[in-house]
Amino acid sequence: MPETTPLIDATGLCRDYGALRAVDDVDLRLERGEIVGLLGQNGAGKTSTMDMLCGVLAPTAGAIAIDGVDLLESPRTAKRALGYLAEHPPLYPDMSVRGYLAFAAALHGVPRAGRGDASDRVMSLCGLKDVAHRLIGNLSKGYRQRVGIAQAIVHDPAAIVLDEPTVGLDPIQIRAIRGLIADLGREHGIILSTHILPEVQALCSRVAIMHHGRILHGGPMSAFTDDTAVDRITVTLRRAPVDSELHAIEGITGVEHLAPGRLRLTLDPTRDVPERVAEAAVHAGWGLLEMTPDRASLEQLFVELTTADTAEASA
Ligand code: ATP
Repeated sequence: MPETTPLIDATGLCRDYGALRAVDDVDLRLERGEIVGLLGQNGAGKTSTMDMLCGVLAPTAGAIAIDGVDLLESPRTAKRALGYLAEHPPLYPDMSVRGYLAFAAALHGVPRAGRGDASDRVMSLCGLKDVAHRLIGNLSKGYRQRVGIAQAIVHDPAAIVLDEPTVGLDPIQIRAIRGLIADLGREHGIILSTHILPEVQALCSRVAIMHHGRILHGGPMSAFTDDTAVDRITVTLRRAPVDSELHAIEGITGVEHLAPGRLRLTLDPTRDVPERVAEAAVHAGWGLLEMTPDRASLEQLFVELTTADTAEASA
């Protein structure tokens, strides 16, 4: 199998509940070493999407391949490469942690002889060794969440899907679970759903913003942090030129006047436009006082996309 086969490759996913199209033509890919954040408000369609990716909900339309295997045609084989922490994971309160993880290993098809080792391995990874013999029902919510993650990875799947993994946890527990997810993300590929923006910022290499069942934005998190890929800058000039002089600089696609001498320039991010603006300012004596990259934050983009769509829908 070529190395480029995505761990998860979903195309054209749709899910209807009666007349409601809860997931609408969603494409989603996951590569090894990536943590993809599926971000959306309550009811955006995140859980329905993840349930379909993990083979627990039938799509109304679309195709899903897990590590190159068609999930709908060969669900048992495909699911071997997949671990899922559902929104409400099926934990049995009367079982011990170790007993439950061995049971989960059996359900995931780990041969009997390997189940003890598999349980020990994930207990180490998830920080559960000290509670191995405790009953799940007596654990704190944070530890129960770790057990939920441990059962999802006990068969060492390549792709891990986590539905709101930190919901309802206290800040210390959130830190611990995020640390665990970051560690797992290095070796596996992870899709996690959340409606917490800082969670995406802290963990994810890529984000997909979902609203009313559709992915409205998908792209790398570096777009929000990388100064070399800015497509807008704000400049303050003591003697601002006429717009045509700015438009004459290759790569400038828009000029907006914010205040006297203060301009927002829209640029082609693939060219060295800020350098050219600085050069032009020096040569022409525009008196450059300030030049700042003007990046949209994830929060701005999220609010823009989700409220614009709502306004459109209600118009
Ligand atoms: P949350 O963050 O609240 O869990 P979500 O983004 O995971 O939300 P879903 O749970 O996938 O969203 O729900 C998407 C839409 O589908 C919602 O409008 C929800 O009410 C609806 N829905 C989900 N499951 C069902 C169902 N079994 N029957 C009918 N409607 C459903």
